[in-house]
Amino acid sequence: MLVSSLLAAASATILNDTSLPPPDPFYAAVYNGTTLPPPEPFEEAMLASLDPLERQLLTSAKGENGVELFEGDIMLSDEQRESRKGASNLWPGSIYYVITSSSSADRNIILSAINHWRSRSCLRFYERPESYNSGPHLRFIRSSGCWSYVGRQERNTGQSISIGQGCNTLGIIAHEIGHAIGFWHEQSRRDRDSYISVLTENILSGKEHNFRVENNENALGVPYDLSSLMHYGGFSFSSNGQPTIVTNDVLLAGKIGQRNGLSHRDRHLANEMYRCSERCVCIPRCRNGGFVDRNCRCICPAGTYGMFCDRRYYSYYGRTCGNQRITRPGVIKSRYFPSLYPPNEHCIWKVTAPTGKRVRIQFHTARVIYRSGVRCPWDWIAVHTNSDSRPDRVACGSELQNTAFTTTGNRLVVEMHSFRERYASLQTGFNATITFV
Ligand SMILES: [Zn+2]
Repeated sequence: MLVSSLLAAASATILNDTSLPPPDPFYAAVYNGTTLPPPEPFEEAMLASLDPLERQLLTSAKGENGVELFEGDIMLSDEQRESRKGASNLWPGSIYYVITSSSSADRNIILSAINHWRSRSCLRFYERPESYNSGPHLRFIRSSGCWSYVGRQERNTGQSISIGQGCNTLGIIAHEIGHAIGFWHEQSRRDRDSYISVLTENILSGKEHNFRVENNENALGVPYDLSSLMHYGGFSFSSNGQPTIVTNDVLLAGKIGQRNGLSHRDRHLANEMYRCSERCVCIPRCRNGGFVDRNCRCICPAGTYGMFCDRRYYSYYGRTCGNQRITRPGVIKSRYFPSLYPPNEHCIWKVTAPTGKRVRIQFHTARVIYRSGVRCPWDWIAVHTNSDSRPDRVACGSELQNTAFTTTGNRLVVEMHSFRERYASLQTGFNATITFV
């Protein structure tokens, strides 16, 4: 049975994008058979590689003085606790900071994260000695976990930013500095329901308050950004390994939860909040989502060019791998199948059958890295049989091997996510046959 379906699969039309493997020496070696993949990584090392912000969301993390953190990594001031989220206090343009001796081992990466902000805004940062206590300032400490206050706190002894164990990456430190500068989480914007859906049935009981929207948020005209450094990932506070946040446009599902650095719109928002172009005499009119920076020039989002960002080559989020225009029966496969699939990808296959028909998918091989507890924290495959945006379930390991699904309507969506680190992706991915029934 399996053999015949595999043969059928081999002879059917290949519906994938057929781009060549990247010119990466590791992959070249695998293709040539000159090296074997390293042995299965240890669970502990794998867990350590996860985003500590995400891990923190699975526990009731505590911040300063044992106070429970809000939304996983925010210390609310007494005032903010009363009014829930409100407008945050801004800095006068200069921010003093102290890297305390507890954080001295992380000094270089903290300085890089400060520089990341400095070069992308008009904020000025000045270091002060550890004994400084003459006005509001940031105090980098190594406490448990990663957390920060939101906005400037009026105390001479400063406000702590904890860069705990595992939090010492540029993206996470920049995220925490973002809070201190005045940023809330992106998904608590009032217009978020137009872009994401919160799946309350998958949220840990008692943690629902972490998904509220803000009272007084002001987006200052900057559009919602799924790729914001300040956006939650899809599995925050999940009780069962299923997503708590999905994007309304499934093609953008891979954009949420990035921790690489500030997005274009994060940078835009900071420039608006701190009125970076205030002193410009001649303000250029930037187009296609560009904004004016402190040097009175347009900063253009990826995909646009020209002095005024007036030439646009692709949309803000770029293209999505996979194939989203499948209208015929055939075979779909993860990239480079049966060789190893690449890390750090989120590919989508969308199959549309003629009206009145349903889509059936028969997985043959389906192998990604294993499940850990209730979660698929690294790589996973999800099948949607009755909703473009909501998967039926998120699977990993070889759970989908030789399984089949039939849609309720005429649309099928398959998502495959691979972790950002290559060593998690030492598996072959999947191949599956699509038929219309
Ligand atoms: Zn945060």
